[in-house]
Amino acid sequence: MTASGDTIVAVASGRAAAAIGVVRVSGPAVPGIAATLLGGPPQPRHAHLCMLADATAEPIDQGLVLYFPAPHSYTGEHMLEWQGHGNPRLLQRAAARLAELGARPARAGEFTERAFLNGKLDLAQAEAVADLIASGSDAAARAALRSLDGEFSRRVAALGEGLTRLRVWVEAAIDFAAEEIDFLADARLVELLATLRADLDALFQASRRGTRLAEGLHVVIVGRPNAGKSSLLNALAQREHAIVTELPGTTRDLLTAQVELDGLSLSLTDTAGLREAGDAIEREGIRRARAELARADLGLLVTDDGHAAADAALLAGLPAGAARLVVHNKIDLAGQSPRREDAADGVHLWLSARTGAGLDALRDELRRLAGDGGDGSGGFSARARHLVALAAAQTALDAAASALADGVGEIAAEELRQAQLALDELSGRVSSDDLLGRIFAGFCIGK
Ligand code: GDP
Repeated sequence: MTASGDTIVAVASGRAAAAIGVVRVSGPAVPGIAATLLGGPPQPRHAHLCMLADATAEPIDQGLVLYFPAPHSYTGEHMLEWQGHGNPRLLQRAAARLAELGARPARAGEFTERAFLNGKLDLAQAEAVADLIASGSDAAARAALRSLDGEFSRRVAALGEGLTRLRVWVEAAIDFAAEEIDFLADARLVELLATLRADLDALFQASRRGTRLAEGLHVVIVGRPNAGKSSLLNALAQREHAIVTELPGTTRDLLTAQVELDGLSLSLTDTAGLREAGDAIEREGIRRARAELARADLGLLVTDDGHAAADAALLAGLPAGAARLVVHNKIDLAGQSPRREDAADGVHLWLSARTGAGLDALRDELRRLAGDGGDGSGGFSARARHLVALAAAQTALDAAASALADGVGEIAAEELRQAQLALDELSGRVSSDDLLGRIFAGFCIGK
């Protein structure tokens, strides 16, 4: 795929009527189109008041024409923006008129695709544009902005530079085969590799937080029957007007609810009392609950002071990377006040699902775990493909480290090359047309 020589046009504002609407044009024909509209050469970055008329000189709308000469525009090409009244019909007519003057309708994402091809954005930033438009919460928008701003790309680039230094070192060692072992055993080399591995891990974690922001945190509630799991689910859900869906089946089936927590999406699954033994249906319920727990981002155990120690085993099926929260429910019965404690096995919260005491602290905790630090510590608007590429780089680095430890320079060099390829996929430096096609097709028209 290369930057095309033709000029594209699209309505760039939403479909609904609004006070202002925008039509964008990008490509080599833009200066000519602007001159036709304005009756003379356009002034760069100046708002020209203009009566837009069709080919028969019949007025379409009055608005503003803005002209951005290449390369100082979103796409890096000559661009023109028509700002008219936000009536979708008027905007369509304006776009049709601009097309008549020398442009063709843009495909979805084509403006951003051109920005990428002209080096204005890398691939991760281009994706962040789509994520920003689609973001359903302030937290997700903040994450997308961080990516768009290039914070993610800069960290990937820094990792890439570190990898290059390592590769130069290792490949030099191979060339001086006689001294290879000494070169490869250098403590500084091992140290550099360890630092890169740690940085990569931190980036992976931040990206994972980003995907959670986009997809929501998957919380699985476990606990003995009557611990108060359903009550807690409802207390969290009701205030947030969640839709509680009871899956078909028995009462021992799973119950899930989607809860919007200040724009964060949490999916809660009540496991209907994890308990050993029981009849066949109950065993099936337990099996499903375990399977659900294995996919959880967060395991939430509902218990009370008397049972906390014994119930801790119910979280055993939680994956290693998942967070844990222990809720000591029914503090109203014990006459306790809400409180929070950081323990070795996770955060413990004392609350009452019935009175609501301590529920706000639980909401805060869920928000924190969902990755919205609210203080810039949140994630990037990462996508599944980013996580896959970062994980591939991690695997390659680990393999390189063990090859180095074994003194096998050639294998270490190859693994480092694989790690670099994985990182290059993130920026789009190495990417198939197929991948690019899929990414940009996910955009809306006009972006
Ligand atoms: P589950 O089986 O774990 O889903 O438990 P439920 O949510 O059905 O609650 C079991 C019983 O405990 C119900 O009668 C609830 O009303 C009661 N319950 C739940 N939470 C509290 C609480 O915080 N305080 C008190 N006093 N009762 C509660």
